[in-house]
Amino acid sequence: MATNFLSQLTGSFATSAAQNPTVAVMEAAYAAADLDVRYINCEVPPERLGDAVRGAIGMGWLGFNCSIPHKVAILDYLDALAPSAEIIGAVNCVTIDGERLTGENTDGQGFVNALRTIVDPQGRSFAILGAGGAARAIAVESALAGARRITIVNRTASRGRELADLVAARTPADAEFVEWEGTYDVPADVDVLVNATSIGFHPSTSTPNVSGFRPGLVTADVVANPPQTQFLQRAAAEGATTLEGLGMLVNQALTNARLWTGRDLDPAVMRRALEASLEG
Ligand code: NDP
Repeated sequence: MATNFLSQLTGSFATSAAQNPTVAVMEAAYAAADLDVRYINCEVPPERLGDAVRGAIGMGWLGFNCSIPHKVAILDYLDALAPSAEIIGAVNCVTIDGERLTGENTDGQGFVNALRTIVDPQGRSFAILGAGGAARAIAVESALAGARRITIVNRTASRGRELADLVAARTPADAEFVEWEGTYDVPADVDVLVNATSIGFHPSTSTPNVSGFRPGLVTADVVANPPQTQFLQRAAAEGATTLEGLGMLVNQALTNARLWTGRDLDPAVMRRALEASLEG
């Protein structure tokens, strides 16, 4: 019987790396698919990113995720960028083909694929709370998936306006900026409301200051821990349809695995591993 003790390698470069549950998700899904591929969380400070990238190339890694603070800095090391990553200006997933590195942004793709399980983004009007990295990826990817209008609602006007301008200039969607002062009252013609801020992330139980939830409004949260945020609970209590941040994380991991291995892994295995790691 042929024996092979050489696993293929994938992982994540970040600092701090220790709290990242993606490792549990990926390792469970690789094992369930009977793939001899590993996923390793690596603590990589900003000044070591180049060394880490060269190490991954040298060791023949299939690819890696970049998390905070490397999502923009990694651009200096890439040979090619996927079209949406180029517009977003940030990369969270790198594939390695020999010496050639290609950057993708799967944050927004994960969101759109999770959203598609509830509603087709085509022709819809979105209101996105926040203008940081997650909001940027979601706004661009939703616009490229056919959204009619993207409204960016943000506390800091300069950041929000810049994102609305980017969407208007680089995608087919209309875009506008609304400064978030006090309560944001969701207009009746908005189809999809997304909390893309970090408000409500464990252990905080705070909730974005929003009114106007209603039946027919799809309300999504990027916060995955806890899965049922106060924001989603309020939205559901007022009749809205809700989408947890867990779905975005699982779909993003599915896309990453497909890019690295060419295989479709099992989302149910991923979700169970994620829920177990959050409970732990
Ligand atoms: P950033 O720091 O880049 O952006 C944070 C955004 O939240 C900014 O727009 C900021 O507004 C806004 N914000 C933060 N606190 C407040 C507040 N008290 N009131 C109003 N606005 C506020 O963070 P990221 O975009 O990288 O991450 C945001 C969240 O998305 C995190 O919780 C992260 O865990 C989650 N995430 C989830 C993913 C998933 O797969 N489920 C994937 C990626 C991220 P301002 O500009 O005014 O400062």
